[in-house]
Amino acid sequence: MKIICIGRNYKQHAEELGNKVPEEPLFFLKPDSSILTRKHAFYLPDWTDDVHYEVELVIKIRKLGKGIQKKFAPRYYSMVGLGIDFTARDVQTQLKSNGHPWEKAKGFDGSAVVSHEFVSLKDLGGDIQNLNFELKKNEEVVQSGNSSQMIFSVDDLIVYLSKYMTLKTGDLIFTGTPAGVGSVKKGDLLTGNLEGIHMFDVRVR
Ligand code: ZN
Repeated sequence: MKIICIGRNYKQHAEELGNKVPEEPLFFLKPDSSILTRKHAFYLPDWTDDVHYEVELVIKIRKLGKGIQKKFAPRYYSMVGLGIDFTARDVQTQLKSNGHPWEKAKGFDGSAVVSHEFVSLKDLGGDIQNLNFELKKNEEVVQSGNSSQMIFSVDDLIVYLSKYMTLKTGDLIFTGTPAGVGSVKKGDLLTGNLEGIHMFDVRVR
């Protein structure tokens, strides 16, 4: 399986990092080895001084498809999860300034938090573009978003991505983060909620 992540899909987040709002989706991959194993805490790597959390809605692909038309896009997902796209921001900034790919800053071990449970979209009200989610750090809300704020809708993303890569059953799409990203330090506890449902706790070590 692969993890496809969308960059800059919320206007305020693009702007908070000084980036332009994109005219077409921006994506990159995380390897399957980046998934944080459920029983493990998140260990800060020793080669970065600035790891950021980015909370994101995660869509699970339910069947194989390529060149998907927009009217058929909703058939390719039915379950929604929540995740964190951990990012070594200092390393990413350096890579970006050199025009290099971001994988080192985005694809390291443990950098993909994926909720153990996925919730059926039906149980969430049925509208993929109207889901509230939030991230708390040590009990304080640091990010909150609604999928209506996405620049590119989930269906648009599926159309766009499947033009370039076959989507396979079990693939995950991280759909971008709202504003409010920030650093973590040892001891922090990150908690994710989707429509009021508790989705994950991650302890930073
Ligand atoms: Zn992200």
